[in-house]
Amino acid sequence: MENGNSRSKDPILIAGGGIGGLATALMLSRSGHEVIVLEKAAQFAEIGAGLQLAPNATRVLTLLGVIDKIREVGVFPKKLRLKKALTDENLTHLDLGDGFIQRYGAPYVVMHRNDLLRILLEGCQEQPAAQLLTSKEIRTVDNDAQGVVATCADGTTYRGKAFIGADGLWSTTRKLLSDDVPVNSGYVSYRGTVPTESAASHAPLDEVVAWIGPGLHYVQYPLRSGNLYNQVAVFKSDQYLKGMENWGNSEELEEKLSVTCEHIRKAMPLLGRDHRWPMYDREPIDRWTLGNITLLGDAAHPMLQYLAQGACQAIEDAFAIGTAFNLEPGNVNKALTMYEQARIPRTARVQRNARLWGDMWHIDGAGRIMRDELFSKRDPDDHSHIEWLYGKRDPLFVGD
Ligand SMILES: Cc1cc2nc3c(=O)[nH]c(=O)nc-3n(C[C@H](O)[C@H](O)[C@H](O)COP(=O)(O)OP(=O)(O)OC[C@H]3O[C@@H](n4cnc5c(N)ncnc54)[C@H](O)[C@@H]3O)c2cc1C
Repeated sequence: MENGNSRSKDPILIAGGGIGGLATALMLSRSGHEVIVLEKAAQFAEIGAGLQLAPNATRVLTLLGVIDKIREVGVFPKKLRLKKALTDENLTHLDLGDGFIQRYGAPYVVMHRNDLLRILLEGCQEQPAAQLLTSKEIRTVDNDAQGVVATCADGTTYRGKAFIGADGLWSTTRKLLSDDVPVNSGYVSYRGTVPTESAASHAPLDEVVAWIGPGLHYVQYPLRSGNLYNQVAVFKSDQYLKGMENWGNSEELEEKLSVTCEHIRKAMPLLGRDHRWPMYDREPIDRWTLGNITLLGDAAHPMLQYLAQGACQAIEDAFAIGTAFNLEPGNVNKALTMYEQARIPRTARVQRNARLWGDMWHIDGAGRIMRDELFSKRDPDDHSHIEWLYGKRDPLFVGD
């Protein structure tokens, strides 16, 4: 058995180099903890689409020292707007300008996923305590008397004092803690970017707009200093309900969105169709930690994307686990227990609210009429529904 880890001081092993894994590696290595990231893919990469980052995440990214690089490529929208998908009428909006930034201590940012991943990767590469390895698929991980030992598909083994499974929705690590499986919502998403000048119909370039309607929604916002335009379409698949194999295909996409307003129908021809994303989440679980092994990001709390919080919560996790290791440098299990106890209630609340928010967006009938009435009358300065999510918290993000 080849020993892939030649360091004498046992590091913290991180499975997965997505946004969660790399943010964690950056947080820990900046504090002087030795880390090894073991990523399954041949390179660190994200899918070619946009990402919304709310101030609960951008506050952390500021503390991690990467906000200036984010400023170079991100877009700072002035408004988050909800419209009716069938008629293009305004429902409500949230001002994201100076008042919002002052209130939450950080901006709302939209950016290309690959840009964020690159920035986190570069941040890690500047840290001597971080080792970043690709083509390392974790197959097994176990606790033993010295800490943890992980084995990769290529036969290499790595020893560490702790193991953080940041290996996403289909996590291998999670199987140690739960026999649950991802829950298929029956919704599917198509997304992608186009050069802004070629976008046939786009919203104002300083806005994030979501058009919501019965069983569907459409989102648009700019990326890369306004040069790229991001589009996302989501719909509930009847083909899925009928048990069809190739459910949620592009023909069904066309058919489902054919009822939407002219703005969306004009924008649709340039929507990315190379790949379809069936939308999954999982039920919250009440334990993430087994000995010196724990979970983080989508591996711990995968959620539907309707609150745009999956990556934001992974970034919060990164800060919380780093804080826990700093508070308990000599006791890994205590640090992981502190992390888990702080994070599970909050992330479970976000998971549950993401489902509810989706139900609210996609409702029809009397519910739709009532929602529209409520949203139209909402004061744009009313922050009561987001304070719990975006508001400033302690470094472990304790509570829900
Ligand atoms: C349509 C859509 C829109 C979204 N929009 C937003 C948004 O606007 N804002 C937001 O905050 N969130 C959003 N999300 C959620 C967000 O994308 C995820 O929550 C986030 O990317 C999770 O990051 P992660 O690092 O935990 O997992 P992942 O990004 O899945 O990374 C896991 C990594 O682990 C690697 N891996 C897997 N198995 C192994 C193994 N056995 N060994 C080693 N490596 C392994 C994978 O290759 C991957 O690199 C959206 C999600 C979807 C589907």
